[in-house]
Amino acid sequence: MVEALNLRKSYGKHVVLKDVSLTVARGEVVCIIGPSGSGKSTLLRCLNRLEEIEAGEIVIDGALIGYQEKENRLHALAEKAACRQRAAIGMVFQRFNLFPHLTALDNVMVAPMRVRGVPRADAAKRGRTLLARVGLAGKEGHYPSMLSGGQQQRVAIARALAMEPKLMLFDEPTSALDPELVGEVLEVMRELVASGMTMVVVTHEMGFARDVADRVIFMEDGAIVEEGKPLAFFSAPVEARTRSFLARVA
Ligand code: ADP
Ligand code: MG
Repeated sequence: MVEALNLRKSYGKHVVLKDVSLTVARGEVVCIIGPSGSGKSTLLRCLNRLEEIEAGEIVIDGALIGYQEKENRLHALAEKAACRQRAAIGMVFQRFNLFPHLTALDNVMVAPMRVRGVPRADAAKRGRTLLARVGLAGKEGHYPSMLSGGQQQRVAIARALAMEPKLMLFDEPTSALDPELVGEVLEVMRELVASGMTMVVVTHEMGFARDVADRVIFMEDGAIVEEGKPLAFFSAPVEARTRSFLARVA
């Protein structure tokens, strides 16, 4: 589903991703952990083409969407593929980023209607189903300001699912939540895992990573330091830097 090879990304002189490669199989759940500033969000944003890469290539479900700028023919092809593929990638952010002037249901309906041209009645029907799926039946008419953080994040997940993504990217989806609201969001994410969704999840929730990840990746300083299956990764990390990070967050 994801083949990202030798990605490089800088902001000014600061190299934020140094030769990062990541492959994710269809149906696989990959959790990315690592200290603040290690490049986790940048990696997700590159996968979604919210950021341009400087070197390397990104193939999502067989279509090249990231590329080296120089190659112009590739550029034109990738540009088209990127637009299509971006619609097929759902992203959930730390700060829910709901449209504040739209109700929960309208937040979920807007992309299918505007981007796909889905008729309003169909979008509404599917929106209600999705809100029910994330445990928000009855909240359709609520504006984001009337919802708790956990509820808002669940609307954000429903909104991403409305575009029928083949890949979901989560960037610290529970980090902005009060502790008592974290569980309800993780529960929805666990159900998504059970449904077979391909997911890349940046998280500080080690219990979640241990339980649901097929693979855990530790990033530091713009590079992947270590990756492995959760059991081995958490019980016997190989790299000293991984051990010291896990000791700090455990
Ligand atoms: P993480 O998500 O692991 O905390 P980020 O990917 O957000 O890390 O950031 C990696 C580094 O890139 C940090 O040093 C951050 O300050 C820098 N950075 C991120 N976004 C920008 C930007 N838009 N402009 C300049 N520097 C940025
Ligand atoms: Mg981040």
